[in-house]
Amino acid sequence: MRISVKELNKLLSEEILKKITSLGEICMNAGLQCYLVGGTVRDVILKVPQIDIDIVTEGNDKLFKDVSKKLIIKKIAFSQFNTAKLLFKDGFSLDIAQARKEIYPYPTSLPVVRRSSIHEDVKRRDFTINTLLMGITKKDFGKIYDYLGGIEDIEKGIIRALHKNSFIDDPTRIFRAFRFKERFSFRFDRETKNLMDNSIKAGYIKKLTPQRIRRELFLSLKEANWDKIIMNLSRSGVLKELGIKQKMTRSSITTFMRIIRNFNVTNQNWELSKLLIITENAQKKDIKAFSQKVGLRRNEVSILLELRRNGKIIVKTLSKKDLPNNKIYWLLEKIPIEGLFYLLGKGTPLSRKRIMLYFNNLKDIKINIKGDDLKKLGIKGGPIYKKILQKVLDEKLNGELKSKKEEIEFVKRIIYKPSQL
Ligand code: ATP
Repeated sequence: MRISVKELNKLLSEEILKKITSLGEICMNAGLQCYLVGGTVRDVILKVPQIDIDIVTEGNDKLFKDVSKKLIIKKIAFSQFNTAKLLFKDGFSLDIAQARKEIYPYPTSLPVVRRSSIHEDVKRRDFTINTLLMGITKKDFGKIYDYLGGIEDIEKGIIRALHKNSFIDDPTRIFRAFRFKERFSFRFDRETKNLMDNSIKAGYIKKLTPQRIRRELFLSLKEANWDKIIMNLSRSGVLKELGIKQKMTRSSITTFMRIIRNFNVTNQNWELSKLLIITENAQKKDIKAFSQKVGLRRNEVSILLELRRNGKIIVKTLSKKDLPNNKIYWLLEKIPIEGLFYLLGKGTPLSRKRIMLYFNNLKDIKINIKGDDLKKLGIKGGPIYKKILQKVLDEKLNGELKSKKEEIEFVKRIIYKPSQL
């Protein structure tokens, strides 16, 4: 198989193609092999736009230095495993790695890495669909090298592991498998599915560090088909391994998806809302265990526990007939947007209306007076300031105060009636 420049042009900008071609030239002049590799080639064949560029070479550190001299590069960042990220002045970046083979000293450990040939390098990868190479030097530009049947599996839509220890050496591949399956609507090769199930049943996922589990789970939650991936993680027992005993049902997911479709809130990935859905029927101790295994941050854990503890009460209170705005405000003030949108899916029409009132209006209401203004009124500093300012905010939330002058008048009124504080 050969990919033409015309086809590549549809997926990669002229600028990116130029950079790749220059890189190929530098490698060829140094007598070294150099290819696009892995997910990059998979995505070229699948015609996925906006492709991440990964390059593999048999080159050495000297090549990396040559590259940074000859290409106009802003920065070259070396990282673990003989890889480097080239950051170009226009903001584009690509990863270049020295071909390597990996040895796992024990299951789930990070691999020990040795330099190797390109041929060895593809064998360390996760699935056949991710083992393809594409030439980028003059002599083989666009040529696909397929050592392990990757093209056929892409064409048939099959996810196939490379060997029987794959999910034992590295159980993060279980998450990756579900991601690729749902992203591309592929299916598992039967033997691969058995190997995954066996690794899950044997408890290998638990042996991964929380950081690695977190990374994989969050990547899954960021996928467009995160709902299907979560259902897979639940059905296959992965979530159980992470402490969530109850199997998930689709209903909360569906409601939540409907809600976020209706709102155009940008820059929001909703991971925390999705974690709330995953943990909503779990017991407190299970949520704690899950949080530990997944390496959740303290603020994330506290919102999971807070809504586990008070979510139902909050929604019930928000459904009460006469509820002043200040009560709504203080009820929701500490809940981040992901929690609010999660609660939108749980409540009654009235509670939903009030959450929206808070979201669109109340949360941005600020008072005009500050501590200095209280000082000018001759009020002695101390915890009383906080109380007074809160009282002013309450009044403003309830629509009573329209200007700074009115706020000051209000303060004057209440400081002579301390019982109101
Ligand atoms: P995505 O589109 O989600 O980024 P990708 O396949 O490009 O998918 P990367 O994490 O960028 O994923 O990895 C690039 C390549 O490195 C993969 O295509 C695969 O060949 C290899 N790879 C990544 N993670 C693993 C792993 N855990 N085990 C084996 N090979 C891996």
